[in-house]
Amino acid sequence: MARIAVTDGISAEAKSLLEKSGHEVVVKFYSKKDLESGILSNFEAVIVRSATKITAKVIKSSKKSLKVIGRAGVGVDNIDLEAAAQAGIPVVNAPRASTQSVVELTIGHLLSSVRHVAKSDRSMRDGQWEKKQMKGSELSGKSLGLVGFGRIAQGVGSIAQALGMTVHAYDPYLPSKVARNQQTRLHKSVESLFSNCTHISIHCNLTEETHHLVNYEILEKMPGKSLDGVKCGNHIVNCARGGIVNEDDVLKALNQGILSSAALDVFEYEPVPKGYELCQHPNFHGTPHIGASTVEAQKRVGVDIAKNIMQILNGKKCDFIVNKNLL
Ligand code: NAD
Repeated sequence: MARIAVTDGISAEAKSLLEKSGHEVVVKFYSKKDLESGILSNFEAVIVRSATKITAKVIKSSKKSLKVIGRAGVGVDNIDLEAAAQAGIPVVNAPRASTQSVVELTIGHLLSSVRHVAKSDRSMRDGQWEKKQMKGSELSGKSLGLVGFGRIAQGVGSIAQALGMTVHAYDPYLPSKVARNQQTRLHKSVESLFSNCTHISIHCNLTEETHHLVNYEILEKMPGKSLDGVKCGNHIVNCARGGIVNEDDVLKALNQGILSSAALDVFEYEPVPKGYELCQHPNFHGTPHIGASTVEAQKRVGVDIAKNIMQILNGKKCDFIVNKNLL
Protein backbone atom coordinates (compact mmCIF):
# COMPACT_ATOMS: atom_id res chain seq x y z
CA MET A 1 0.00 0.00 0.00
CA ALA A 2 1.22 3.49 -0.79
CA ARG A 3 1.99 6.67 1.14
CA ILE A 4 0.23 9.56 -0.57
CA ALA A 5 1.08 13.23 0.05
CA VAL A 6 -1.78 15.69 -0.42
CA THR A 7 -0.25 19.15 -0.45
CA ASP A 8 -3.14 21.52 -1.28
CA GLY A 9 -6.06 19.76 0.41
CA ILE A 10 -8.63 17.25 -0.80
CA SER A 11 -12.27 16.43 -0.01
CA ALA A 12 -13.07 14.17 2.97
CA GLU A 13 -14.73 11.69 0.56
CA ALA A 14 -11.54 11.37 -1.48
CA LYS A 15 -9.32 10.96 1.59
CA SER A 16 -11.60 8.28 2.94
CA LEU A 17 -11.68 6.49 -0.45
CA LEU A 18 -7.87 6.30 -0.47
CA GLU A 19 -7.68 5.23 3.16
CA LYS A 20 -10.37 2.57 2.77
CA SER A 21 -8.24 1.12 -0.03
CA GLY A 22 -5.43 0.80 2.49
CA HIS A 23 -3.29 3.81 1.56
CA GLU A 24 -1.74 6.21 4.05
CA VAL A 25 -2.73 9.80 3.29
CA VAL A 26 -0.68 12.72 4.63
CA VAL A 27 -2.44 16.06 4.12
CA LYS A 28 0.19 18.78 4.55
CA PHE A 29 1.36 21.85 2.65
CA TYR A 30 5.11 21.72 1.96
CA SER A 31 7.26 24.77 1.24
CA LYS A 32 9.30 25.11 -1.95
CA LYS A 33 12.41 24.39 0.13
CA ASP A 34 10.93 21.16 1.56
CA LEU A 35 9.84 20.02 -1.88
CA GLU A 36 13.19 20.77 -3.51
CA SER A 37 15.09 19.02 -0.76
CA GLY A 38 13.29 15.74 -1.44
CA ILE A 39 10.41 15.54 1.04
CA LEU A 40 8.37 13.69 -1.59
CA SER A 41 10.89 10.85 -1.64
CA ASN A 42 8.93 9.56 1.39
CA PHE A 43 5.86 9.06 -0.79
CA GLU A 44 4.76 6.94 -3.76
CA ALA A 45 2.17 9.49 -4.88
CA VAL A 46 1.51 13.19 -4.52
CA ILE A 47 -1.75 15.02 -5.13
CA VAL A 48 -1.61 18.78 -5.72
CA ARG A 49 -3.98 21.53 -6.80
CA SER A 50 -2.55 24.72 -8.30
CA ALA A 51 -0.61 26.12 -5.31
CA THR A 52 2.14 23.48 -5.17
CA LYS A 53 4.68 23.70 -7.99
CA ILE A 54 6.12 20.36 -9.03
CA THR A 55 9.23 21.56 -10.83
CA ALA A 56 12.04 19.56 -12.46
CA LYS A 57 14.07 20.08 -9.28
CA VAL A 58 11.27 18.66 -7.10
CA ILE A 59 10.89 15.66 -9.41
CA LYS A 60 14.64 15.03 -9.52
CA SER A 61 14.81 14.99 -5.72
CA SER A 62 12.01 12.40 -5.39
CA LYS A 63 12.08 10.36 -8.58
CA LYS A 64 13.25 7.15 -6.91
CA SER A 65 10.05 6.75 -4.92
CA LEU A 66 7.33 8.74 -6.73
CA LYS A 67 5.18 6.55 -8.98
CA VAL A 68 2.48 9.05 -9.88
CA ILE A 69 1.70 12.78 -9.62
CA GLY A 70 -1.96 13.78 -9.43
CA ARG A 71 -3.43 17.20 -10.17
CA ALA A 72 -6.82 17.62 -8.50
CA GLY A 73 -8.21 19.75 -11.33
CA VAL A 74 -7.55 20.36 -15.01
CA GLY A 75 -4.63 22.74 -15.63
CA VAL A 76 -1.22 21.12 -15.21
CA ASP A 77 0.90 24.23 -15.81
CA ASN A 78 2.25 23.93 -12.22
CA ILE A 79 3.80 20.54 -13.02
CA ASP A 80 6.84 20.00 -15.23
CA LEU A 81 5.34 17.29 -17.45
CA GLU A 82 8.51 16.68 -19.40
CA ALA A 83 10.68 16.26 -16.29
CA ALA A 84 8.07 13.86 -14.88
CA ALA A 85 8.06 11.84 -18.10
CA GLN A 86 11.86 11.71 -18.15
CA ALA A 87 11.73 10.27 -14.65
CA GLY A 88 9.09 7.77 -15.85
CA ILE A 89 6.37 9.30 -13.67
CA PRO A 90 2.86 9.61 -15.13
CA VAL A 91 0.95 12.80 -14.32
CA VAL A 92 -2.81 12.36 -14.03
CA ASN A 93 -5.52 14.99 -13.70
CA ALA A 94 -9.27 15.17 -13.13
CA PRO A 95 -10.46 17.20 -16.09
CA ARG A 96 -14.20 16.62 -15.91
CA ALA A 97 -14.91 17.37 -12.29
CA SER A 98 -15.17 21.15 -12.54
CA THR A 99 -16.58 21.53 -16.05
CA GLN A 100 -20.16 22.36 -15.04
CA SER A 101 -19.03 24.75 -12.29
CA VAL A 102 -16.84 26.73 -14.70
CA VAL A 103 -19.61 26.73 -17.32
CA GLU A 104 -22.01 28.25 -14.81
CA LEU A 105 -19.51 30.85 -13.55
CA THR A 106 -18.81 31.90 -17.14
CA ILE A 107 -22.51 32.38 -17.85
CA GLY A 108 -22.77 34.27 -14.56
CA HIS A 109 -19.97 36.63 -15.63
CA LEU A 110 -21.56 37.15 -19.04
CA LEU A 111 -24.94 38.03 -17.55
CA SER A 112 -23.41 40.15 -14.83
CA SER A 113 -21.33 42.06 -17.39
CA VAL A 114 -24.16 43.05 -19.69
CA ARG A 115 -26.60 43.88 -16.86
CA HIS A 116 -24.05 45.65 -14.62
CA VAL A 117 -24.86 43.42 -11.65
CA ALA A 118 -21.54 43.93 -9.84
CA LYS A 119 -21.40 47.63 -10.73
CA SER A 120 -24.98 48.21 -9.53
CA ASP A 121 -24.22 46.44 -6.28
CA ARG A 122 -21.15 48.63 -5.69
CA SER A 123 -23.16 51.75 -6.48
CA MET A 124 -26.02 50.78 -4.16
CA ARG A 125 -23.60 50.10 -1.33
CA ASP A 126 -22.45 53.65 -1.93
CA GLY A 127 -26.03 54.90 -1.35
CA GLN A 128 -26.70 55.55 -5.07
CA TRP A 129 -29.78 54.72 -7.15
CA GLU A 130 -28.25 54.88 -10.66
CA LYS A 131 -31.09 53.39 -12.65
CA LYS A 132 -30.34 55.19 -15.94
CA GLN A 133 -26.60 54.51 -15.84
CA MET A 134 -27.24 50.80 -15.41
CA LYS A 135 -29.07 50.30 -18.71
CA GLY A 136 -27.66 47.10 -20.16
CA SER A 137 -28.24 44.89 -23.16
CA GLU A 138 -29.58 41.38 -23.63
CA LEU A 139 -27.43 38.41 -24.48
CA SER A 140 -30.16 37.18 -26.79
CA GLY A 141 -29.49 38.09 -30.41
CA LYS A 142 -25.73 38.61 -29.84
CA SER A 143 -22.76 36.63 -31.07
CA LEU A 144 -20.63 34.76 -28.57
CA GLY A 145 -17.11 33.81 -29.65
CA LEU A 146 -15.45 30.94 -27.82
CA VAL A 147 -11.66 30.73 -27.88
CA GLY A 148 -11.08 26.99 -27.55
CA PHE A 149 -13.95 24.58 -27.98
CA GLY A 150 -13.33 21.84 -25.43
CA ARG A 151 -15.47 20.59 -22.57
CA ILE A 152 -16.20 23.91 -20.85
CA ALA A 153 -16.65 25.92 -24.05
CA GLN A 154 -19.16 23.39 -25.40
CA GLY A 155 -21.16 23.62 -22.16
CA VAL A 156 -21.11 27.43 -22.31
CA GLY A 157 -22.10 27.27 -25.99
CA SER A 158 -25.19 25.14 -25.26
CA ILE A 159 -26.47 27.53 -22.58
CA ALA A 160 -25.66 30.57 -24.72
CA GLN A 161 -27.68 29.06 -27.57
CA ALA A 162 -30.60 28.47 -25.19
CA LEU A 163 -30.34 32.18 -24.28
CA GLY A 164 -30.70 33.08 -27.97
CA MET A 165 -27.04 33.79 -28.76
CA THR A 166 -25.31 32.75 -31.98
CA VAL A 167 -22.26 30.73 -31.02
CA HIS A 168 -18.92 30.96 -32.82
CA ALA A 169 -15.68 29.18 -31.95
CA TYR A 170 -11.99 29.09 -32.82
CA ASP A 171 -10.09 25.92 -31.96
CA PRO A 172 -7.33 24.78 -34.32
CA TYR A 173 -6.99 21.45 -32.50
CA LEU A 174 -10.64 20.46 -32.46
CA PRO A 175 -11.16 16.85 -33.56
CA SER A 176 -13.22 16.94 -36.79
CA LYS A 177 -15.77 14.56 -35.22
CA VAL A 178 -16.59 17.18 -32.54
CA ALA A 179 -16.60 20.03 -35.06
CA ARG A 180 -19.15 18.31 -37.28
CA ASN A 181 -21.60 17.65 -34.44
CA GLN A 182 -21.95 21.21 -33.20
CA GLN A 183 -24.33 23.95 -34.25
CA THR A 184 -21.50 26.42 -33.96
CA ARG A 185 -19.84 28.59 -36.56
CA LEU A 186 -16.20 27.58 -36.58
CA HIS A 187 -13.53 30.11 -37.55
CA LYS A 188 -10.14 29.40 -39.08
CA SER A 189 -8.43 32.28 -37.30
CA VAL A 190 -8.75 34.00 -33.96
CA GLU A 191 -8.88 37.35 -35.82
CA SER A 192 -11.98 36.21 -37.72
CA LEU A 193 -13.62 35.12 -34.44
CA PHE A 194 -13.04 38.49 -32.74
CA SER A 195 -14.16 40.43 -35.86
CA ASN A 196 -17.53 38.65 -35.77
CA CYS A 197 -18.34 38.65 -32.06
CA THR A 198 -19.38 41.29 -29.54
CA HIS A 199 -18.97 38.82 -26.69
CA ILE A 200 -15.91 36.64 -26.24
CA SER A 201 -15.25 33.92 -23.69
CA ILE A 202 -11.85 32.26 -23.34
CA HIS A 203 -11.70 28.48 -22.84
CA CYS A 204 -8.38 27.32 -24.29
CA ASN A 205 -5.35 26.03 -22.41
CA LEU A 206 -2.47 28.30 -21.50
CA THR A 207 0.40 27.42 -23.85
CA GLU A 208 3.22 29.34 -25.53
CA GLU A 209 0.85 29.79 -28.45
CA THR A 210 -2.03 31.18 -26.36
CA HIS A 211 0.05 33.39 -24.05
CA HIS A 212 -1.29 36.95 -24.61
CA LEU A 213 -3.38 35.67 -27.50
CA VAL A 214 -5.95 38.24 -26.42
CA ASN A 215 -4.21 41.58 -26.88
CA TYR A 216 -5.05 45.15 -27.87
CA GLU A 217 -4.80 44.49 -31.63
CA ILE A 218 -7.32 41.68 -31.49
CA LEU A 219 -9.70 43.47 -29.10
CA GLU A 220 -9.78 46.39 -31.55
CA LYS A 221 -11.30 44.06 -34.16
CA MET A 222 -14.47 43.43 -32.13
CA PRO A 223 -17.52 45.01 -33.81
CA GLY A 224 -19.24 46.70 -30.82
CA LYS A 225 -22.56 46.34 -32.61
CA SER A 226 -24.53 43.13 -32.88
CA LEU A 227 -26.23 41.60 -35.89
CA ASP A 228 -29.59 42.74 -34.47
CA GLY A 229 -28.29 46.32 -34.76
CA VAL A 230 -27.89 46.92 -31.02
CA LYS A 231 -24.85 48.93 -29.93
CA CYS A 232 -24.13 46.52 -27.13
CA GLY A 233 -20.38 47.21 -26.94
CA ASN A 234 -17.75 44.51 -26.60
CA HIS A 235 -17.42 42.15 -23.65
CA ILE A 236 -14.85 39.56 -22.69
CA VAL A 237 -14.78 36.88 -20.04
CA ASN A 238 -11.81 34.74 -19.05
CA CYS A 239 -12.47 31.78 -16.77
CA ALA A 240 -9.66 29.69 -18.32
CA ARG A 241 -6.12 30.63 -17.31
CA GLY A 242 -4.34 33.87 -16.48
CA GLY A 243 -1.82 34.94 -19.10
CA ILE A 244 -4.02 34.15 -22.13
CA VAL A 245 -5.35 37.68 -21.83
CA ASN A 246 -2.89 40.59 -21.80
CA GLU A 247 -4.25 42.46 -18.78
CA ASP A 248 -2.52 45.77 -19.61
CA ASP A 249 -4.18 45.69 -23.02
CA VAL A 250 -7.55 44.90 -21.47
CA LEU A 251 -7.20 47.93 -19.20
CA LYS A 252 -6.25 50.11 -22.18
CA ALA A 253 -9.24 48.79 -24.16
CA LEU A 254 -11.57 49.47 -21.20
CA ASN A 255 -10.17 52.99 -20.82
CA GLN A 256 -10.67 53.70 -24.52
CA GLY A 257 -14.19 52.22 -24.62
CA ILE A 258 -13.12 49.46 -27.04
CA LEU A 259 -14.28 47.07 -24.35
CA SER A 260 -17.49 47.79 -22.46
CA SER A 261 -16.71 45.17 -19.88
CA ALA A 262 -14.11 42.63 -18.87
CA ALA A 263 -14.72 39.85 -16.38
CA LEU A 264 -11.80 37.75 -15.22
CA ASP A 265 -11.67 34.79 -12.89
CA VAL A 266 -7.99 34.13 -13.61
CA PHE A 267 -4.98 36.43 -13.69
CA GLU A 268 -1.42 36.29 -14.96
CA TYR A 269 -0.12 36.74 -11.41
CA GLU A 270 -2.27 35.41 -8.62
CA PRO A 271 -3.21 36.67 -6.14
CA VAL A 272 -3.44 40.11 -7.74
CA PRO A 273 -1.82 42.84 -5.64
CA LYS A 274 -3.99 45.20 -3.57
CA GLY A 275 -4.93 48.26 -5.63
CA TYR A 276 -4.27 46.47 -8.97
CA GLU A 277 -5.31 49.08 -11.55
CA LEU A 278 -7.40 46.76 -13.73
CA CYS A 279 -9.51 45.72 -10.73
CA GLN A 280 -10.28 49.39 -9.98
CA HIS A 281 -11.86 50.01 -13.40
CA PRO A 282 -15.64 50.51 -13.05
CA ASN A 283 -16.37 48.17 -15.97
CA PHE A 284 -14.16 45.39 -14.72
CA HIS A 285 -15.42 42.69 -12.47
CA GLY A 286 -13.42 39.87 -11.13
CA THR A 287 -13.52 36.71 -9.09
CA PRO A 288 -10.49 35.24 -7.33
CA HIS A 289 -10.02 32.04 -9.41
CA ILE A 290 -13.21 30.41 -8.13
CA GLY A 291 -14.21 28.58 -11.33
CA ALA A 292 -13.97 25.19 -9.64
CA SER A 293 -14.95 26.40 -6.17
CA THR A 294 -18.30 24.72 -5.70
CA VAL A 295 -19.30 22.01 -3.26
CA GLU A 296 -20.06 19.68 -6.16
CA ALA A 297 -16.83 20.25 -8.09
CA GLN A 298 -14.60 19.94 -5.02
CA LYS A 299 -16.23 16.65 -4.07
CA ARG A 300 -15.99 15.35 -7.65
CA VAL A 301 -12.42 16.47 -8.20
CA GLY A 302 -11.12 14.71 -5.10
CA VAL A 303 -12.89 11.46 -5.84
CA ASP A 304 -11.85 11.53 -9.53
CA ILE A 305 -8.17 12.14 -8.75
CA ALA A 306 -8.18 9.50 -5.99
CA LYS A 307 -9.55 6.94 -8.48
CA ASN A 308 -7.01 7.92 -11.15
CA ILE A 309 -4.11 7.72 -8.69
CA MET A 310 -5.24 4.27 -7.54
CA GLN A 311 -5.52 3.02 -11.12
CA ILE A 312 -1.86 3.90 -11.68
CA LEU A 313 -0.72 2.49 -8.33
CA ASN A 314 -2.59 -0.75 -9.12
CA GLY A 315 -1.00 -0.93 -12.59
CA LYS A 316 -4.37 -0.47 -14.31
CA LYS A 317 -5.22 1.57 -17.42
CA CYS A 318 -5.96 5.23 -16.74
CA ASP A 319 -7.49 7.55 -19.37
CA PHE A 320 -6.27 10.71 -17.70
CA ILE A 321 -2.46 10.57 -18.06
CA VAL A 322 -1.55 14.01 -19.39
CA ASN A 323 2.11 13.31 -20.20
CA LYS A 324 1.37 10.03 -22.00
CA ASN A 325 3.01 11.21 -25.23
CA LEU A 326 6.22 12.10 -23.39
CA LEU A 327 6.61 8.93 -21.32
P1 NAD B 1 -10.38 21.14 -22.80
O1 NAD B 1 -9.06 20.50 -22.95
O2 NAD B 1 -11.59 20.29 -22.92
O3 NAD B 1 -10.50 22.34 -23.84
C1 NAD B 1 -9.45 23.19 -24.17
C2 NAD B 1 -9.55 23.45 -25.65
O4 NAD B 1 -8.60 24.47 -26.01
C3 NAD B 1 -9.21 22.21 -26.51
O5 NAD B 1 -10.29 21.86 -27.34
C4 NAD B 1 -7.98 22.65 -27.29
O6 NAD B 1 -7.97 22.13 -28.61
C5 NAD B 1 -8.18 24.17 -27.30
N1 NAD B 1 -6.95 24.88 -27.66
C6 NAD B 1 -5.66 24.54 -27.42
N2 NAD B 1 -4.83 25.45 -27.97
C7 NAD B 1 -5.61 26.37 -28.57
C8 NAD B 1 -5.34 27.55 -29.31
N3 NAD B 1 -4.08 27.93 -29.59
N4 NAD B 1 -6.38 28.28 -29.75
C9 NAD B 1 -7.66 27.90 -29.51
N5 NAD B 1 -7.96 26.77 -28.85
C10 NAD B 1 -6.97 26.02 -28.37
O7 NAD B 1 -10.33 21.89 -21.39
P2 NAD B 1 -11.56 22.41 -20.50
O8 NAD B 1 -11.82 21.42 -19.43
O9 NAD B 1 -12.66 22.87 -21.36
O10 NAD B 1 -10.85 23.68 -19.80
C11 NAD B 1 -10.69 24.89 -20.51
C12 NAD B 1 -9.84 25.88 -19.72
O11 NAD B 1 -10.48 26.16 -18.47
C13 NAD B 1 -8.44 25.38 -19.39
O12 NAD B 1 -7.53 26.46 -19.55
C14 NAD B 1 -8.53 25.05 -17.92
O13 NAD B 1 -7.29 25.14 -17.28
C15 NAD B 1 -9.50 26.12 -17.45
N6 NAD B 1 -10.15 25.85 -16.17
C16 NAD B 1 -10.30 26.89 -15.30
C17 NAD B 1 -10.90 26.69 -14.08
C18 NAD B 1 -11.08 27.84 -13.12
O14 NAD B 1 -11.02 27.63 -11.93
N7 NAD B 1 -11.33 29.04 -13.59
C19 NAD B 1 -11.34 25.41 -13.70
C20 NAD B 1 -11.23 24.37 -14.65
C21 NAD B 1 -10.63 24.60 -15.87
